[in-house]
Amino acid sequence: MRLIFLGPPGAGKGTQAKLLTEKHAIPQLSTGDMLRAAVAAETEIGKRAKAVMDAGQLVSDEIVNEIVSQRIDSADCARGFILDGYPRTVPQAVALGKILDEKGLRLNAVIELIVDEAALVRRIENRVKETIEAGGKVRSDDNPEAVRKRLVEYREKTAPLSDYYASRGELKTVDGMAPVETVTREIDRILSEAAAVA
Ligand code: AMP
Repeated sequence: MRLIFLGPPGAGKGTQAKLLTEKHAIPQLSTGDMLRAAVAAETEIGKRAKAVMDAGQLVSDEIVNEIVSQRIDSADCARGFILDGYPRTVPQAVALGKILDEKGLRLNAVIELIVDEAALVRRIENRVKETIEAGGKVRSDDNPEAVRKRLVEYREKTAPLSDYYASRGELKTVDGMAPVETVTREIDRILSEAAAVA
């Protein structure tokens, strides 16, 4: 099962992806997590990405395409994977298409979580509050200014991805404002249909 989640930051992509990894025993490939790990490990890529990420802007396509292409080759991706936060631009989607073609793989589904932006800002504020209450470390880009920038980046660069996948007949949409369990049920339904067609 190879799956892409689309939707703005805070839409619940990470939450749904985690549930699916358990159910289908496939990894969630979050480019945000991979980049944060690279920043923490102070690798060459991490050093290049840090300032861009802290400003809420997008890391270059070249860097993320390479990270994803390498990650997909890992043994734990043999049964499939869920891409979370990638592709984020139309050029990344085109690059992903080429990467998958070269590896003889194809996507089973592209699912967009539709949400309203005011609710997103509240969700992200809650995520910060809960993390602080739990004694955890808040992401350096979870602050109002960076969140606003991430939403602008999303609107300008990532929202066109919906049209890209819709024009190819690959896009499925789910109401991301519904309760988590309802969203999960709807995603399960889409995936069963995709499996039936495959
Ligand atoms: P996320 O955890 O998905 O919200 O990503 C956090 C940050 O990592 C983003 O604001 C970007 O700076 C960077 N990032 C993650 N995925 C990508 C991507 N596919 N393309 C470019 N930048 C990315």
